[in-house]
Amino acid sequence: MEIQRLSLSHFRNYEQAEVCFSSGQNLIFGENAQGKTNLLEGAAYLSGARSHRTRGDKELIQFGQEKAAVCGTVLSRERIFSIEIFLFRHGRRQMLLNGVKQKTTASLSDTLRTVLFTPEDLFLIWSGPAARRRFLDQTLCQLRPRYAQALSQYHRLQEHKTRILRDWEQKPSLLSTLDTFNGDMARYGAILISYRAKYVQILGEIFCKIHSACSGNREQPSLVYETVSTVADPFAPVEQIETWLLEHQASHRAAEQAVKSCLSGPHKDDFLVLLDGRPLKAFGSQGQVRTAALSLKLAEREVHFFDRKEYPVLFLDDVLSELDERRQSFVLNQITEGQVFITCCQKMPLLEQEGNAEFRIEHGVIFPAEDAPQRENE
Ligand code: ATP
Ligand code: MG
Repeated sequence: MEIQRLSLSHFRNYEQAEVCFSSGQNLIFGENAQGKTNLLEGAAYLSGARSHRTRGDKELIQFGQEKAAVCGTVLSRERIFSIEIFLFRHGRRQMLLNGVKQKTTASLSDTLRTVLFTPEDLFLIWSGPAARRRFLDQTLCQLRPRYAQALSQYHRLQEHKTRILRDWEQKPSLLSTLDTFNGDMARYGAILISYRAKYVQILGEIFCKIHSACSGNREQPSLVYETVSTVADPFAPVEQIETWLLEHQASHRAAEQAVKSCLSGPHKDDFLVLLDGRPLKAFGSQGQVRTAALSLKLAEREVHFFDRKEYPVLFLDDVLSELDERRQSFVLNQITEGQVFITCCQKMPLLEQEGNAEFRIEHGVIFPAEDAPQRENE
């Protein structure tokens, strides 16, 4: 998978920009606040019209402008796709895939898959469960459209149920609708649990291999998926999981009404990273925690490869400068295949490979290095 060409119009601090990328490693360097992360954000936006930094599209539109455009040419499954996304300050965004309007983002995320790695990911293990759930959700949404659908339904139901629990004292009649919401949440929740359990299992196997290679086989790492306590086996059929979720909801009904929030369901899921059977979060050294986070991210990329036999586009935003030399070279050696974008403040040597490219960013203008690739017909 690769982004061959990207054009940005009034996107963040880019007035107009057009750039052709290398199919290997692309180094993007420049001083702080010049637009390096913005460029990655724009490139990644082609996949699923989602930004890792904001949930609101309006923030992506350049200050003082009414509309923005992110367009690109993508190579995926040995075919060329054109993706065009138009954002409006006062209106709904438009998405086109090969010139055809798209109602949802599903086909965009299926066409271009991406993995993003930022310095915050190095704290994945120390962060709260929400960050780890996001980590699972991001990949699963890209891998399985059915998961993405179930997740968005689940979130919608959860928001609605939270409003009922918040307002029921003023309006007791609201409680009569709670059973319907609980039933639907259990149905979609069971789908989420089933996918998450399988994904954590596969991810765990790859994670162990990468972690051992990075840490010199000293410790035995493992991942353990944690979900609703009544779910005795997350690999059980979804109908069975649904029944267990309903049981848990029933036993937490009074507590939910008392604290006025949703206590029961996979929106509280987490996974534990263990080293020699002990939770890394509690006992790990800084170096161990970083190595594990790094290995998780690199494992995520491998899972995509297993699924499609094609590497997703990898974005490393500022992350290499955060790593010591040994880990830097470990990462660079793990990512010799597939398209990679690396941002940093200083120009740095990349792995010796044909076709790598360098771009300097200054005030929202991209200056390709002399040996940057020139594609025909672009
Ligand atoms: P760093 O090295 O500090 O991470 P960076 O090169 O990654 O810097 P970016 O995060 O890409 O910097 O941001 C570059 C600039 O874009 C910032 O000065 C920011 O204020 C500006 N910016 C962000 N959103 C918009 C917007 N909607 N319109 C115009 N400029 C914006
Ligand atoms: Mg940045």
